[in-house]
Amino acid sequence: MTSKTNRTRIDAVGNATRGIGYEEPLLFEIGSPNRKGTQLPISTVPEYNAEDEFSGESLRDELSELPELSEVDVVRHFTRLSTWNAAVDLGLYPLGSCTMKYNPKINELVARLSGFSRGHPMQPEQVSQGFLRLCWELETFLREISGMTGISLQPSAGAQGELAGIMMIRAYHESRQDPRREILVPDSAHGTNPASASLNGYKVIAVPSGEDGILHPETIKPLLNAETAGLMITNPNTLGLFETNIQEITSLVHEAGGLVYGDGANLNALLGVSRPGDCGIDVMHFNLHKTFSTPHGGGGPGAGPVGVADMLIPFLPTPIIIKNTEGFFELSHDAPLSIGRLHGFFGNAGMLIRAYAYIKSLGANGLKHCTEMAVLNANYLLKRLSSHYHVPYESSVMHECVLSDKGLEETGVTTLDIAKRLIDHGYHPPTIYFPLVVSGAIMIEPTESESLEGLDRFADALIAVREEAIEEPDILLTAPHHTRHNRLDETRAARNPILRFAKEDSGP
Ligand SMILES: *Cc1c(COP(=O)(O)O)cnc(C)c1O
Repeated sequence: MTSKTNRTRIDAVGNATRGIGYEEPLLFEIGSPNRKGTQLPISTVPEYNAEDEFSGESLRDELSELPELSEVDVVRHFTRLSTWNAAVDLGLYPLGSCTMKYNPKINELVARLSGFSRGHPMQPEQVSQGFLRLCWELETFLREISGMTGISLQPSAGAQGELAGIMMIRAYHESRQDPRREILVPDSAHGTNPASASLNGYKVIAVPSGEDGILHPETIKPLLNAETAGLMITNPNTLGLFETNIQEITSLVHEAGGLVYGDGANLNALLGVSRPGDCGIDVMHFNLHKTFSTPHGGGGPGAGPVGVADMLIPFLPTPIIIKNTEGFFELSHDAPLSIGRLHGFFGNAGMLIRAYAYIKSLGANGLKHCTEMAVLNANYLLKRLSSHYHVPYESSVMHECVLSDKGLEETGVTTLDIAKRLIDHGYHPPTIYFPLVVSGAIMIEPTESESLEGLDRFADALIAVREEAIEEPDILLTAPHHTRHNRLDETRAARNPILRFAKEDSGP
């Protein structure tokens, strides 16, 4: 690792590592032979000779060279590493469509209750009643929030929820001896939408969004026919715009014999305000790791439950959690039309617990308030930024807003450079170059977690970056400057990532 001791440093997030401990060397540079971080009692187990059991080939000749460290060395090392990453616990994390909201600590407390955390997935139902009840109640909450009538908590990501949903659409048409071959997907959709349709063997028909960024019945009508299995729709769409024609569109698809899939990854603008089920959606997924505050990205696994309307209930994944006549919870496999199991055991069980805690601790009014604040925050940022950045669709938005790099052509600065420079200003970059319908898109989702002052600081940073782009474009073209590594070769970083410390590595 190269020493960067002479570099003043603003870290990617909230200046976190500029302070105490920044100058300290890293694990592999410190340590000394026989220094120990543990104190174990004297062993009473007879010494074991590995050579008696294994052939020479599977044994190491020598121990790998690991640093020998004290407890405090190790604690400092990992505590320091934890601050090198962008994290929502350190600052605003405006990654649009990803809903990087704060993950309340009460969720963690609840997930650590020993009845949950020490439960075993192989444990019989009779002694898993608490967890099964939590799942059953979470299903009830999701039904109420979405207006769907059946839920499966099994899928462990939004994408897997989509896969499950499209599998159910396929199973539904096949059960009616009317297999169809096409799924319509708007051009503003998340890439997982066409992928889920293709994985199910469907031909993907792209639906162009209108000049105003939303879908129009006139564009959809001519694309519908006897091969239409369904339409996938995201509302609000990835431009942050509410699909105001949603009801007319879902009716058209239904008249053509198709079903409507709702991409519910981002429900952050709808909680307590509008229900997909009431708008004609037949099947949808929820991203508990977005709207329902469970940690994601580098910080945790996902959970992508699916919800369905009545006609798709027979196709839900199994097992299904049922409450028997004595009030006990059971896992039922009695569903002959089911698309089957999608996941071992209960999916990412810890995420279900956290999402449950989030919903319970906020209550119906609290959830609605979150939605209102998320929408207000996105609109506030849009208003503050619209005189500085190009806004491709002049309309008020829902949970996120999209800007672009248009107008900066003469400076040579593009969206990528703006995103990189924002890191020097202390922020994780927004989502960039998505949605595809906006050239050079900068997609910002502040979520409800931010205060007015926090939003203002972020807007000031983006405005400062824009001024720098005009006055000193080189600063942007070579950004970031204050991070441990400067601009990476993104392709190589993705293909040959260095994910492990080793003594000979030149850097983390
Ligand atoms: C995040 C997202 C998905 C996919 O969810 P994953 O959990 O990442 O698989 C799908 N659609 C939209 C609109 C999203 O934002």
